Amino acid sequence: MVNKVDLHTHTIYSDGNLTPKELLNLANEKEIKGISITDHDNILGIKEAQFYGDKLGIEVIPGVEISTDIEDFEVHLLGLFIDINNIELNKYLNFFREERYYRAKRIIKKLRNIGLPIAIEDVELKAKNSAIGRPHIAKAMVEQGLIQNYYEAFEKYIGDNGPAYEKKIHISPISALKLINDANGLCFIAHPNYIKENILIFLIKSGIDGIEVVHPSHKKFQVRFYRELVNHYCLLETGGSDFHGQTKNDEDNFGKYYISYQKVSAMKKMLIKHKI
Ligand code: AMP
Ligand code: ZN
Ligand code: FE
Ligand code: FE
Repeated sequence: MVNKVDLHTHTIYSDGNLTPKELLNLANEKEIKGISITDHDNILGIKEAQFYGDKLGIEVIPGVEISTDIEDFEVHLLGLFIDINNIELNKYLNFFREERYYRAKRIIKKLRNIGLPIAIEDVELKAKNSAIGRPHIAKAMVEQGLIQNYYEAFEKYIGDNGPAYEKKIHISPISALKLINDANGLCFIAHPNYIKENILIFLIKSGIDGIEVVHPSHKKFQVRFYRELVNHYCLLETGGSDFHGQTKNDEDNFGKYYISYQKVSAMKKMLIKHKI
């Protein structure tokens, strides 16, 4: 039997539903032998995950999923084996969080000016531990009875052309790649089927370490295609379930989308090479 490894999961430290402890217990039930916690722009769940991983005999690889922007497209990058104490990485993540908070406040101010009184506290409740985004504002507006449904918020007010829209800060994928590599991590393109092929090729040529080949959103032919790319450009392969613990489907995917431990060994060999 293969040793299942899932290198893409979320916890309550971003938009997941489970604590790192609960996630590790579920991984144990599903006979997953290695896991990476890759919360969105957040690394606060990793220590707790490592603590329970040690107890259960599950290897926990420190990770993060960083949101980046290029040509107005969002690109998610996975940093694996990162040093969670790296100062620059921590500085960036704190900065990102603060900027998202101040942007939410600016949106809220605009909403107030057009007669939609919403409080930052209500939005924060929706965001829980995640960096605040427009979906949280939309949810809070619905809850406060200011609009009928979630989509109305985007259509009328906070969509890209709406009267209460505010730009967000963006980091380029190239800057995020450097941030991850400088924190001793390997950098992978997450779920590449969401990005245009020219951007994918650009990132490969810019020195990305690997590609997420296995992901629930990938069809069989895409898995084959991304694996061919990995082989062609001598890259590393990663994969996982992108588990958030939000739906039954999500739960089924956990333990179903994984890579073998061999792939992790290849990553470790590359890390040794990086250090020489
Ligand atoms: P933010 O990062 O705060 O700008 O929020 C981006 C997120 O808002 C996207 O990932 C979507 O989930 C959501 N979103 C953006 N535009 C729309 C839209 N027109 N309708 C529904 N959801 C949207
Ligand atoms: Zn997510
Ligand atoms: Fe993602
Ligand atoms: Fe994800």
